[in-house]
Amino acid sequence: MRACPINCTAVKQQLMTCSSITNDVDRMSRGNIPCRSPAMLPDFDPNDTEAGMKILEDLTENVHRMQQLVLEEIITRNAHTEYLEGFLNGQCDMQVFKDKVPVVNYEDIKPYIERIANGDSSNVISAEPIIELLTSSGTSGGQPKMMPSTAEDLHRKTFFYNLLVPVMNKYVDGLDEGKAMYLLFVKPETKTPSGLMARPVLTSYYKSSNFKNRPFNRFNIYTSPDETILCSDSKQSMYCQLLCGLVQRQEVLRVGAVFASAFLRAIKFLEDNWNELCSNIRAGRVSDWITDPSCRNAVSLILGKPDPELADLIEHECGGESWEGIIKKLWPRTKYIEVIVTGSMAQYVSTLEFYSGGLPLVSTMYASSECYFGINFKPLSKPSDVSYTLIPNMAYFEFLPVNKNHDDVQCNGVCKENCGEDVETVELVDVKLGQYYEIVVTTFTGLYRYRVGDILMVTGFHNKAPQFRFVHRRNVVLSIDTDKTNEDDLLKAVTKAKAIVESLGFLLIEYTSYADTSSIPGHYVIFWELTSKGSNHLPVLDPNLMEQCCSTVEESLDSVYRRCRRKDNSIGALEIRVVQHGTFDALMDFCVSQGSSVNQYKTPRCIKSEEAINILDSRVVGRFFSRNAPYWEPGK
Ligand code: AMP
Repeated sequence: MRACPINCTAVKQQLMTCSSITNDVDRMSRGNIPCRSPAMLPDFDPNDTEAGMKILEDLTENVHRMQQLVLEEIITRNAHTEYLEGFLNGQCDMQVFKDKVPVVNYEDIKPYIERIANGDSSNVISAEPIIELLTSSGTSGGQPKMMPSTAEDLHRKTFFYNLLVPVMNKYVDGLDEGKAMYLLFVKPETKTPSGLMARPVLTSYYKSSNFKNRPFNRFNIYTSPDETILCSDSKQSMYCQLLCGLVQRQEVLRVGAVFASAFLRAIKFLEDNWNELCSNIRAGRVSDWITDPSCRNAVSLILGKPDPELADLIEHECGGESWEGIIKKLWPRTKYIEVIVTGSMAQYVSTLEFYSGGLPLVSTMYASSECYFGINFKPLSKPSDVSYTLIPNMAYFEFLPVNKNHDDVQCNGVCKENCGEDVETVELVDVKLGQYYEIVVTTFTGLYRYRVGDILMVTGFHNKAPQFRFVHRRNVVLSIDTDKTNEDDLLKAVTKAKAIVESLGFLLIEYTSYADTSSIPGHYVIFWELTSKGSNHLPVLDPNLMEQCCSTVEESLDSVYRRCRRKDNSIGALEIRVVQHGTFDALMDFCVSQGSSVNQYKTPRCIKSEEAINILDSRVVGRFFSRNAPYWEPGK
């Protein structure tokens, strides 16, 4: 790797008042020591709330400087990668970077990532070795997108996780007096042809030494032994984690999972298995089907001696009439539920409230496979008020202004945004209150001006750092768990399925969809208006044929959907509801009455409005479910 001629001290000279972080960078840049980003990841003890808050204050006060340092460091390191060299011609200049390097989507960088997956040097995009590829829940051509990751990236994530601790401690007292029942899971992983590991970002983190060697400080004690989190059999993992959580119920001060959907899945699992869990507690012996040896050993140690009293108590609570407030009943000292309930997870808030007994729902962070973005500085705020403050040493952030088409909001709640390709990006410090933006990142791991696909709205500022509400994911119409189905995916799947009925003389006149989360797990519902060719009469439908249509839709959806459905059981069987003739006219009338323009009316492909769903539901004449989970295999 050639050294970049850029002078790191030049940027540092602009730093009139130096924070502890920028001081570190200064120190490192003296004597021609290259700027290394560990300097931008200051060490601190997460138990030390004051020190942690001081770092957050520094970061949010010095946003502009940090962002400049971050971009300069990324360019300095990577100017001679094949990708950047092609645009920069060896120049290490921030303005040249912005003028010459294009804002890109995944499809633009996919060939570079595939080359690395197939054995090419990391230097195609990154001066630091790419040690693994993180499979995102966004898909491309039906397969998960793959994001590069470096060894140093793990430290950046650890730094980010450590920052969450002082924020929580600032708002909730006494978290060091007990444990956290976090239900965390690993997902299947594959190897690329060159032998790189390809796996989801959290699987990568939980399997890392950073997670294994996390300081077992006062705020960091989990009820789940690592062996249960790392167990690759998701059913054994869930069972063991719940068993450990129940046994240690008096010590639990907070419960949670990453996303709301995963936490609700755990509650459903508990509903289905509490009898057996109680009998294990009563006997002091783990069920025989827990065969993973390290899991079994770890759980047996926690289970200890037979405890019939505890088993009786749990049986009494679980066997009660209603499960309303069950979390508070089973884990009486719990102060809050830590789950992400923003974005597509907002659909689970009311169900969580039912089970929680009024506990706060806390969304601590906003992150992705590409990069970790922001922290919720007011963790106890209502789900609808949650904003994330972007942490300026995580990546270099830019924003594409987005115009909302409010017509669409009226009927289906899925806003279409209009973001011209030639729109200029704005910097983190230049975003405007109330404006919508799509976030674009330049990371330390080889992504340059990459459109993440998330639409955010500026809600305020913490010091100089803007705070954002997560609005939605570009294009996504349906999501139950980590699946993200867009209009095109849905259209393709419906097109395949309708061929089955069309070959028999039926016509699909219109369709739309919604994510039904009234039961756990939630499932996709597709409304179909069918006629017989040449008549307005509703055809007599063969249930077998309709079930086949449901299965065909599922088989055609992307691999993340199929994994959630088949492997994780986090999505239920897809349903087609056939509606009577004229239903979609009634839907149009409703949308127009809500403000959609008649001229520009297009059938929404996803419905969010409860009233609109009621209009469709009241005209349903047949309901059909897919009988089998679709095919899925890692990497396929
Ligand atoms: P993945 O790359 O599969 O980890 O998915 C990352 C995506 O999940 C982000 O780009 C967002 O669309 C979504 N996401 C992550 N964190 C949040 C959050 N706190 N609120 C809403 N959506 C989120």
